[in-house]
Amino acid sequence: MEQTLSIIKPDAVKKGVIGKIIDRFESNGLRVAALKKLQLSTKDAKEFYAIHKDRPFFGELVEFMTSGPVVVIVLEGENAVAKNRELMGATDPKEAAKGTIRADFAESIDANAVHGSDSLENANNEIKFFFSKEEIL
Ligand code: GDP
Repeated sequence: MEQTLSIIKPDAVKKGVIGKIIDRFESNGLRVAALKKLQLSTKDAKEFYAIHKDRPFFGELVEFMTSGPVVVIVLEGENAVAKNRELMGATDPKEAAKGTIRADFAESIDANAVHGSDSLENANNEIKFFFSKEEIL
């Protein structure tokens, strides 16, 4: 069993597709172990995406991620990290495989509907960023 972090980004929250996205997870063997809706501050977003701080799109990424509420979710299941990445599809929705979350709900490379941890190590750190042990059930 693995746990991974998913974030339903501001574009998807604004569109009202929280339920549709969670259905993709639950219909594909990923269980919701923790969930909350919150507004990221600029400080939070910069810290969460610190790994991308030298990338040219860092400013846009932080601005976008703080443009409205997000839903953060701990997903649990067999191979949860890879399974979630598979369900999400490629970073650029134009390149995302048919039937993936990004192909179906995302508009552009920055407003791309969801975040998902890309390794088990990052998943553990990202989960700790948002949730205490007691909140994960
Ligand atoms: P992910 O793991 O598929 O989310 O992709 P990355 O870790 O490479 O990038 C993190 C996030 O940065 C992506 O989900 C996008 O929201 C954003 N991003 C990546 N590349 C670009 C880009 O070229 N331009 C902009 N504006 N945002 C980008």
